[in-house]
Amino acid sequence: MPRLIGISNRTAAGGSKAGGLAVALWEALAESGGLWFGWSGEVTKTAPRGVELFEEDGVEFAVTDLTEAEHQGFYLGYSNRSLWPVMHYRVDLANFDESEFAIYAEVNRRFAKLIRPRLQRDDVVWVHDYHFMLLGRDLRELGWDGRMGYFLHIPFPPPEIFKSLPDHARLVRGLAAFDVIGFQTTNDRRNFEKYILEEMGAKALGDCRYEVQGRAITIKAYPIGIDADEFARLSVGDAAQVAQSRIKPFLGNRKLILGVDRMDYSKGIPQRFEAMGRLLDHDRDLHGKIAYTQIAPPSRTKVEEYADLRGELDELSGRINGDYGDLDWIPIRYLARSYPRDYLAGLYRIASLCLVTPLHDGMNLVAKEFVAAQDPANPGVLLLSQFAGAAEQLSGGALLVNPHDLSGMADAMREALRMALPERRRRWEAMNKVVNEQDITWWRESFIADLSPDRPLGSSAS
Ligand code: UDP
Repeated sequence: MPRLIGISNRTAAGGSKAGGLAVALWEALAESGGLWFGWSGEVTKTAPRGVELFEEDGVEFAVTDLTEAEHQGFYLGYSNRSLWPVMHYRVDLANFDESEFAIYAEVNRRFAKLIRPRLQRDDVVWVHDYHFMLLGRDLRELGWDGRMGYFLHIPFPPPEIFKSLPDHARLVRGLAAFDVIGFQTTNDRRNFEKYILEEMGAKALGDCRYEVQGRAITIKAYPIGIDADEFARLSVGDAAQVAQSRIKPFLGNRKLILGVDRMDYSKGIPQRFEAMGRLLDHDRDLHGKIAYTQIAPPSRTKVEEYADLRGELDELSGRINGDYGDLDWIPIRYLARSYPRDYLAGLYRIASLCLVTPLHDGMNLVAKEFVAAQDPANPGVLLLSQFAGAAEQLSGGALLVNPHDLSGMADAMREALRMALPERRRRWEAMNKVVNEQDITWWRESFIADLSPDRPLGSSAS
């Protein structure tokens, strides 16, 4: 088994092995005696050079600090104020600044230079996400000709949106240096395919392979999964019970409606609040019978658009509670803080309805976690945006909604709250099958198999 080199903005070193991805990558790296490279999470005033090396649970880590200027230009700037909004179809929120792109390119190059001397013949490199679109080409230019894959965790928009990034051509030329490029959904893959066919004169070779700039590369969808077994286990664990007993005094006999999202404008939380307002406006009989809890940990608070969202949510939830609440009932409980996953699992399990209504989302793991945590005898209903990556896999069981259609969402909530047990079970079983079959291990193994030595590789297209 070749040694795997993982590269991502944040590593899971130091005890944050919480997410499914972190665990999956950790396992793959540990099995192959691998190395995980990334940002240390530290920001320094002066130029920090070089890497800090350490070992943790069978994985070797190499991390580097960012300078204040790099943190501003590369991370907060280009990654999160240019790429993130555009990739989530929000050109209106994007900020285009040449100097930030220059720092993004410099950081990619600096990381490549730190990694290159550590690569050995036969290593397999796996780069993650939008922070490092140029890193593959940088490694090639530094003489690395080994196998190299890239997985984009967020959406890839249609070319006419992607092309609003002034440096779009350079970004895709960067990606074309990889041997395998993975996307979350076939929709994202198709958008990328359209771009390279139209803009780069690429040729389709069949079987997900393309000739791009003289190299043959694989371009495929690998929808990321979760550790479904673990979530099912957590949902009946001790922490789950603690969470349930803490929420029960507020819940009484009401049905729990749950939302769990990082506080991000891509998640469609204001629209969801508005739709809840519509429901309460039309269905007076639901007053006092439902309790909507929205968990929304603040994120990227240094970026202006995120601070604006916080204000909008505070105001909207206040207005809806003011309009519809009563002495003994608060319709929306909006909690701007995070909870551990084992707690969330307990809340998912007792929720009658989970609202996952992003305007655009790469995958959305909350949707899958909710499914895995249900009681098979009495499962809840998933209301899912048609624009979440997860909709491609879960359309057989979720109630799909357009997050911009407020009345449509209110109608779907009403339908979910009235849905009879046999239909709930049928829908849940369809989703649970996919969530279990295409789990995080399946995802990792599918990607790594396509990068493996017995697959044809990139250097020549013939
Ligand atoms: N999450 C958490 N605590 C919280 C809120 C969220 O641990 O208070 C986790 C959640 O269980 C999920 C992840 O954060 O695993 C969010 O992933 P998702 O794909 O839904 O959205 P992202 O935040 O990556 O855009």
